[in-house]
Amino acid sequence: MNSQANMPTTALAHLDHWIDGVSVKPAGGQYIENICPMTGERSVNVAAGGEADVVRAVAAASAAADSWRRFNAAERGRLMLALAAKMRANKQMLAELERADTGKPMAGALAEIEGSAQYFEFYGSLVYLPTGDVLDVSPDQHVFTKREPYGVIGVITPWNLPLNQAARAIAPALTAGNTIVAKPSEITSRTTIEMARMATEVGFPKGVINIVLGTGREVGEAIVSHSSVRKVAFTGSVGVGRAIGRIAAERIIPLTLELGGKSANIVFDDADLDTAATEAVKGFTLNAGQVCSAGTRVLVQRAVYDAFLEKIAEAVTAVVPGETLGPIITPAQFQRVQSYFEVAEDDGARLLSGGAVADVEGCKDGFYIQPTIYADVTNDMRIAQEEVFGPVGVVIPFDTEEEAIRIANDCDYGLIGTLWSRDISRALRVADRIEAGQIFVNVWNTMSVQTPFGGHKNSGYGREKGIEAIHHYSHTKTVTVKI
Ligand code: NAD
Repeated sequence: MNSQANMPTTALAHLDHWIDGVSVKPAGGQYIENICPMTGERSVNVAAGGEADVVRAVAAASAAADSWRRFNAAERGRLMLALAAKMRANKQMLAELERADTGKPMAGALAEIEGSAQYFEFYGSLVYLPTGDVLDVSPDQHVFTKREPYGVIGVITPWNLPLNQAARAIAPALTAGNTIVAKPSEITSRTTIEMARMATEVGFPKGVINIVLGTGREVGEAIVSHSSVRKVAFTGSVGVGRAIGRIAAERIIPLTLELGGKSANIVFDDADLDTAATEAVKGFTLNAGQVCSAGTRVLVQRAVYDAFLEKIAEAVTAVVPGETLGPIITPAQFQRVQSYFEVAEDDGARLLSGGAVADVEGCKDGFYIQPTIYADVTNDMRIAQEEVFGPVGVVIPFDTEEEAIRIANDCDYGLIGTLWSRDISRALRVADRIEAGQIFVNVWNTMSVQTPFGGHKNSGYGREKGIEAIHHYSHTKTVTVKI
């Protein structure tokens, strides 16, 4: 087996595309040098793909599309369940690869692999679901609808939760009968390649899952632009989402866009403050804050503001860089997060904790940041409006329920809203008015594969996860029969 399982994570291996069931070297022969975020040292060389590689992958996916669409549903489900089982059986190895690319603590990496396997399990058990309706519009006409796959789906994913985001899009797209050409981030490609290799090993027909490695400009744009790619699922930044949107508009193909966030976490004066403070810290430090759904704007009612600040300052001491807090994943992002410390200071935010890089023993050149909290922030400050994508939270005081709703919605993003209150009527009232795709009441971000996920406003459109995602990877055909 040509697996990376036994590869030392620091070895300068070459990672190649996975096309038509085999490992394929980049047509141009070029590789991108990756850097380990824990040590700052060179790690793996990733194929720098280009248009020729995309053309080859799309040809493989197109050739496989018709038979995969007609593949026996039960057998398709069995393959997906077998892939889930294989990923679980190799959980430790996949987690080590994810950790080698991202530096995240092992517990986080293992949780991510488990979540990724669950996508194949969940969607593998829903293979009979894409069905239709009978709509008998008149006695002499029998009308029915059926869900049909698009054909080849392009999947483009970022570097923060690499395997999870690839699996999140690929699994429902397969269930709906599509074939795949995916591009992981060039910074975190290892687990997506390994997943595709495992899919081939458990018996997926060649060409059903193809992975092309390389940069967004070279590979991502070529995928979106290819005339045989019929839909694209993109997870990443707003800027790239817009750029892809322009190409998709020109080609008239649908997109699912999962973009950024600057989510509000509202603490009312009747909340359980201890839990709210502890969970608020998790909200902006999970995965070192590199989560689109991070709860980075903590809105606190003035009557409990001082008490909450004491509790959150205490709670954040439990987050230790190098132990429970991983590094920032890319060198550029490491610099970007630090630049926000100056921005916050210039805007007059009060530093409550952190605000600097973190020294981690044995990781002198690693990209670690101290968990950081700014207090007395106003919602117009850049630190309150822009996605930092690092372990940085801001605390904003408010007086009334109406003001909390106004502040929460006064933002270009709309991914998550969290509320802490013992008054359930108020919680439901506020939940109704927050412009976000997901709302949590007295709990933070307990998402599951079953729960539809997606954004409002600049956080994107379309929904991943749950049964709903299957409908985003298929379209309806209406058939009318004269009786
Ligand atoms: P990014 O937009 O720079 O890159 C995402 C992917 O797009 C990468 O694979 C990249 O190579 C590719 N890409 C870049 N330019 C491209 C182009 N012109 N055409 C096609 N593809 C291109 O994002 P990132 O920096 O990798 O990730 C961080 C961003 O992702 C954050 O804004 C974060 O909020 C967002 N994100 C959103 C979700 C979500 O589900 N809503 C999840 C994770 C991350």
